[in-house]
Parts: sequence; C-alpha cells; structure tokens
Amino acid sequence: MMIKMKMFTKDTRLLGILEAAMNGVCPDKDACRYMLTFHEASAEASLIRIAANDIMRKKSDNSAIILGQVGVDVSECTGGCKFCTFGEGHTKFIPKRLSDEELYAKISGFNEKEDLYGLFLMTMHDYDLSVFLNSVNIAKSIVPSTTKIWANVGDSSLDAFKEMKKAGVEGVYHVCRIGEGRDTNLRPEDRIKTMENALDAGLKLYTCCEPIGPEQTIDEIVDNMFIGIELGCTQHACMRRVAVPGAPLAKYRQISELRLGQFVAVVALASFGTPTMTYCGVHEPNEIAYVSGANIITAEAGANPRDNKDDTSENRGMDMEDCRTMLLESGFQYIRRGDESKIPLTFDYVKGE
Ligand code: SF4
Repeated sequence: MMIKMKMFTKDTRLLGILEAAMNGVCPDKDACRYMLTFHEASAEASLIRIAANDIMRKKSDNSAIILGQVGVDVSECTGGCKFCTFGEGHTKFIPKRLSDEELYAKISGFNEKEDLYGLFLMTMHDYDLSVFLNSVNIAKSIVPSTTKIWANVGDSSLDAFKEMKKAGVEGVYHVCRIGEGRDTNLRPEDRIKTMENALDAGLKLYTCCEPIGPEQTIDEIVDNMFIGIELGCTQHACMRRVAVPGAPLAKYRQISELRLGQFVAVVALASFGTPTMTYCGVHEPNEIAYVSGANIITAEAGANPRDNKDDTSENRGMDMEDCRTMLLESGFQYIRRGDESKIPLTFDYVKGE
C-alpha cells in the first residue's frame, strides 16, 4: 500500500505517519495536527481517509452499527450553547416532555428488525433523574437484550450514574465541547468531571470531537479530540457544527462533508489502538465519512440539537431504513447487534419486508 501511496505524495512525514498506522501505531497529537494541515481536496487528505477506512474496516470485519437516539424532553436549556437550537436566550422551542406513550411509540419505531446496537435517551442539560430513569424502564421493556441502553444527559454526579447503571444503562455519551465555556454556559472542568463520574460508576464512555466549525484552529480541535482518548473512551466520533438558523454561531457557516471526513479519519487513526474502538461515529451521517473510517450511524427521533423541528425524524433525522440504506451503499457487509452478533447487510435485508 505504501508504494502505491508514494504515487500520490512525496510528503515523507505523512507517509511515515500512515505507514506506522498501518502497522498498528496510532498517531500522536502532533501527527494529528499535521494531518489536518492538508486541504480536504488534496491527494494527501485522500490518503489519510483511505488509511483510516482500511484500518477500521479490517478491525470491524467490514461491519457497521446503528444507534438510535430519542430526545426525551425539550426546554430552554441552561447550557446556552451558541450552536444549539435549544440554547437559552435564542431558542424558539416550547418546552415539551414526551409522554410515556409517545416515548413507547418512538422507541418501538427503532425496533422493527431488532438490529439496533444501542439506544441513547437524551435530555437537556438540566434533567430530572426520576423522569430519566422512567424512560430507561420504558426502553428496557421494549428493546431486545441485544440493544444496549445509553444516556445522553447533562453534567451528572457519580451517584446519578450509579442509579442509571442499576436501572440498566450501560454507557454514557458525554463531551467536553470545543469552545466549552466560551461558546456555552458550561465549564470544561465540569464536563470532564462528568465523564470521570461515568467511568467511576462502571459505565462506558462514548464521546465525540465536536462541534467542529470553520473558524476553529487545528490546535483546539486536536486538543479536544484527545480528551476522550486520554480518558479511555470506548467509542469516539466527530461532529461538524450545523449552521442551525437562529443559533448565534450559524454566522460562521459550516465545514464541508469532505473536511468532516478528514476529521473522522484522523480521530479514527488516533484512537483505533484502543481495544474497544471497533466503531467510530460521525454526525451527521454522510457517505464520505463512511469511506473515511466511520462505521456508526444514528437514527434520531424527537428533539435534536441540530434541528429546529421538534421531531427531527420529520426533518434532519434519519430513520432506520435510511440508516441501513446508507450503510449498504457505503459497502458494509454486516450490521452488528449490541452483543456483536452479525447480520449480513444485503439489498434484500434492507429493502425486503
Ligand atoms: S447542546 Fe445540549 S447542553 Fe447545549 S444548549 Fe443544547 S441541549 Fe443544552
């Protein structure tokens, strides 16, 4: 592979980084910064994406996973994130909490073929633990044992996470965002403490380098990428910031999907050495990312921070069939359930009754 790569670049530093990765050595922060200096349309960026794609497909036996996310409630969120449609001071949402029946219907919508790897239950930054635990109980009564249940909640204590674990939650999605404290009302140290609390409670940590915007520096993005890696995350991902109309940071617009693919490739290369890092995520899903190292796709229903519709499945959010179709079109051969069992991903599986 390296001989072929030399046909496209004479950059010996990049070739060395990629060759080391192909031999199982993850790039360090400095190498990640270097890989992000190349323009997304350059041959060098293409090589970075190819290497990440090859490594992640081999590591996962060319498998992908589908996650589901349900926004349990919506309110004017004290997180105040300047990129989020729910942030206090700029949101237009009317507070709403899904009833048990609505929650039941939305979760059941993910469940038709029992091929959901994991289900995220999402709240605003401030949330009521008893309401959240009730949503966990509802989810548990619907999903099969091959679907993991995860939390995507605001900053939380060790005790709250212990309660969630007791209720059947296996993992937590949590991030310290790029620009946390500057573009949000929250403190980076509280975000990191929450991730530590989740790990201390025995939960797995799913994280993401986000939200990546065009005005940010490579240094701040790479520093953010390594927060999760250094904490020992189970899965990593990248998300570009969506220019949601009305959100204050929408004025900076957004990076291209091709550039996002480069970030995905770099985060996959930086973290694939972690034994649990079989899967790498991207938000929002797109085919370029799925040939750049990503193999996690998320179906969404209810509230979504990147959408100004109160049920994202009617707008930006993808449903399960959209997800299966995108994975099929991206050449994956298997969908994995949460117990790692494999389902062959074929045209008939996706389109059949
Ligand atoms: S991103 Fe999360 S914490 Fe920030 S305003 Fe939106 S819902 Fe609140």
